[in-house]
Amino acid sequence: MSQVVVGPPKKIERQNWTEITPQALYDKCMALAKNLWWSWHPEVVNLFRDLDPVKWRKIDHNPIVLLSEMTPAQLADRAAEMVLYTRINQAHRRLKEYLSNTHTTWGARETGVLGSKPVAYFSAEFGIHESVPIYSGGLGVLSGDHIKSASSLAVPLVAVGLYYDQGYFKQHLDSNGYQQEEYQDTRVENLPMEPAIGIDGDQVTISIDTRNGALHAKVWLLNVGRIPLYLLDCDVEGNSPQDRELTSRLYGGDMRTRIRQELVLGVGGVKALRALGIMPGVYHLNEGHSAFAPLEVIRQRMADDGLSFDESLREVAHHTVFTTHTPVPAGHDRFPANLVEEHLGPLRDRLGISSAQLMGLGRVEPQNELEPFCMTVIGLKLSRRANAVSALHGDVSRRMWAHLWPWRVEEEIPIGHITNGVHIPSWLAYPMHLLFDRVLRSDWQEWMGDSKVWQAFYDVDPGELWETHSDLKNRLLDFVRRRAGRQARRRNEPEDGGNAVRALLDPNALTIGFARRFATYKRADLFFRQLDALAQLMNDPQRPVQLIFAGKAHPADEPGKHLIKTIENLRHDPRFAGRLVFIEDYDINVARHLVQGVDVWLNTPRRPKEASGTSGMKAVLNGGLNLSILDGWWAEAYNGKNGFAIGDGRQHVDDEITDTRDAANLIKALRDDVIPLYYDRDADGLPRRWIDMMVESIATLAPRFSAHRMVTDYVNKCYLVAAGGLSSDMSGK
Ligand SMILES: *Cc1c(COP(=O)(O)O)cnc(C)c1O
Repeated sequence: MSQVVVGPPKKIERQNWTEITPQALYDKCMALAKNLWWSWHPEVVNLFRDLDPVKWRKIDHNPIVLLSEMTPAQLADRAAEMVLYTRINQAHRRLKEYLSNTHTTWGARETGVLGSKPVAYFSAEFGIHESVPIYSGGLGVLSGDHIKSASSLAVPLVAVGLYYDQGYFKQHLDSNGYQQEEYQDTRVENLPMEPAIGIDGDQVTISIDTRNGALHAKVWLLNVGRIPLYLLDCDVEGNSPQDRELTSRLYGGDMRTRIRQELVLGVGGVKALRALGIMPGVYHLNEGHSAFAPLEVIRQRMADDGLSFDESLREVAHHTVFTTHTPVPAGHDRFPANLVEEHLGPLRDRLGISSAQLMGLGRVEPQNELEPFCMTVIGLKLSRRANAVSALHGDVSRRMWAHLWPWRVEEEIPIGHITNGVHIPSWLAYPMHLLFDRVLRSDWQEWMGDSKVWQAFYDVDPGELWETHSDLKNRLLDFVRRRAGRQARRRNEPEDGGNAVRALLDPNALTIGFARRFATYKRADLFFRQLDALAQLMNDPQRPVQLIFAGKAHPADEPGKHLIKTIENLRHDPRFAGRLVFIEDYDINVARHLVQGVDVWLNTPRRPKEASGTSGMKAVLNGGLNLSILDGWWAEAYNGKNGFAIGDGRQHVDDEITDTRDAANLIKALRDDVIPLYYDRDADGLPRRWIDMMVESIATLAPRFSAHRMVTDYVNKCYLVAAGGLSSDMSGK
């Protein structure tokens, strides 16, 4: 294509502009768009946005869609107009350097033994960016954050998941406030995916025999920085029409769909790695969904090395790490024997074990024929190293699974804990990022998990921190008003010239955010058990309070949907009008706005059901203060001056009593601690003691609850041992 002449470029741009053709410029942008590395680099995000800010917002921040709706000539025009050439070139060069630098990284120094035998990280969902809808909530975002940090630390790791072409659902509320679910088809060409090419040069496909015919899947590759993420997709020829839709939806369908998805993820995932020529040294099963994987690895070892089932199992378990994520019994998948036999039967034949033996691997009491097959149980039995995701969750899990090791006392149950963390660059707002750049040492990003680096934050200028936070809060309120306006228009609510929306939320009022799955144990309604007391607090003319809610209920969860409806309808109550809003369709984008702009992040789980929780960690980074039950991560994070606790961590066997007590403690914490501290201003209008608490929160919590710290813990406590475990443990045999 010949070079298209565009309007006179700005002077500093001339040199670059004449050097590069529109097509070459376009190719550089596309290369950036095709590695999700861009999603945690604000300068690249801003670059895409600046190409067309209005469209950017409409297309879920998807740069591939943005670019595919532009010609190279249009892109070059726009780049000249916006002086973007240098920024495009720089971003492209940085990505290339990042991908080629493999020797001065943390991983190169610290993970030598993993080398050519990487960690294979299995998860049913990955939340990397809102434009790649293959996640539903916390578990997915955690997996996404895990692989992003593994990328930056350069840990040898490959990730395995499923490609859901309809993802999770989009949420709308109807005019009664009732949740509606809408499934949208995602188009492969709009995602940064390409066929994963196997050792034979073709796109990898795998098949799995069941008693009822074979299941087939093809494999896609998504690049997440240095980490390849392989996604299995059942929409292939050879599958029945029904099976072609097997991986369409995340957590949709019945129990049979579920076991078939998990068969594809676990067994199919292991087969895919083999076809790709990848020989993992460690298998990390992130939650029980992938816990069939070790069975296929055991089969491979038996076939490759002539081992017996028992020998092979012992070996494979050495290399397997299992992470459990929920203390709620309903959160563990359980399958009846007939479904297990239908799907694992042919594999079981090759393993040479009886169906009673196979079922026994998934049962607490192997001989108990009434007990279903539990994915967590097989995960625990087939892994040498298992962990929970916070200190408290470790205690709870050891107690919960103690009967698997009846000969051990509780402290000796082999389930440890590695507390979750969040990927700081993904959740930190850009203005706050710039503030950290000014206050912390210049290479703080490389040392995010080191608490010494954060000591410097105690010297931040309080006025500057407050100003940055206030900007972010205004940005959030703009976002909320924009969304609320859109919601009102879609529901055809009476027009009042937009006044209701403009009057919504006051930038000077204490702003509390609450957003998460509407699972019953998370108790989004705790507040409303004391509606009058709450209304009174919120309407104090000198010290007003406002609330922003968001979150999805699982499509089958009627109580959760009812709760959403109750909260949504409170905006019609004059005591809450203009001060309470429910934002539809909670996703990574909504989460990012909320955690970056609120004053207070509220979490009210029924202790000890919250395994960890991560959204509160995201709020910390941006100066939000946590107000939370002492559960999950907060039970180990709270030090008395880095946020607020609701109650003192007591729980009652009777839920009703616990809930009533916690509701009263929530109102008490707000009335006695949170509100007075927020409104205590000095002569300059600054809430000095509140700002001190923000500083304490960031300095003490940012390093401890970062995904960098989490991934280095996994490397040091699990991966290195599991990778080398074989020789040391075998020698003692
Ligand atoms: C962080 C996050 C979550 C997890 O929040 P919890 O505190 O664990 O409930 C869920 N959904 C989205 C979109 C998130 O970003």
